[in-house]
Amino acid sequence: MLLCKRMVFVILIAILPVVLALNLVFPQLTPVFSPFTPLRPYLVIDAGHGGEDGGAISLSGIPESHLNLAIAGRVDLIMGLYGAPAVMLRREDVSLHDPQAKTLREKKVSDLHNRVELVSQQQNAVLLSVHQNSFPSSKYSGAQVFFAPTAGSKPFAIALQEALRTAADPTNGRQATAIAQSVYLMNHISCPAVLVECGFLTNPTEERLLQDANYQTKLAAAMSGCWLNYSGTFLLQDRDEGTS
Ligand SMILES: [Zn+2]
Repeated sequence: MLLCKRMVFVILIAILPVVLALNLVFPQLTPVFSPFTPLRPYLVIDAGHGGEDGGAISLSGIPESHLNLAIAGRVDLIMGLYGAPAVMLRREDVSLHDPQAKTLREKKVSDLHNRVELVSQQQNAVLLSVHQNSFPSSKYSGAQVFFAPTAGSKPFAIALQEALRTAADPTNGRQATAIAQSVYLMNHISCPAVLVECGFLTNPTEERLLQDANYQTKLAAAMSGCWLNYSGTFLLQDRDEGTS
């Protein structure tokens, strides 16, 4: 046994110069399990609204901001499981406004400015903003993905719409659509960005589903899987192609 240990030691000593020499010859080699280089896009997860700004209110009185956070948090969790770089703009039920903001209006404006600033601080960011839809009529349902006017946004939105259709509701015929100019955050960032309206809080069936933990995980898994599948390729191809 002792002889065996000595032999291993001798072999290790013998191959050490070879390993050192290889390091000098191939200094750029990186470990197999470090796939995320600094150029790898970084997912910024935005749980819409928060704090006093609850967003839309569901039929049973649940603020949109709570559901946004629950789903966004699941996306972040899955990113963590895969070791993919991601960050959340908020992790609690808070608004991100400056302390000087006093009125609800001032707080909303400050919150959005700060979200833009936080996104812009992240190198190679791709923004995923999570929201819930509402409409005066209860008949509408289905997840809807919107894309920002920045390069790289539209192809990701198309893939994400398809992923959500496949995972959550194969009958959902909605198509990825350009975001309205009135949505401040999506029109003031410079990185690729998509906004997901996960479903309608004004549709009784979907409102119940959106509160279900398993359904929230299903939506988050669709978003995460799509991102993991797409992040390594589309940005390099499409950033130069615009969003047409
Ligand atoms: Zn919203």
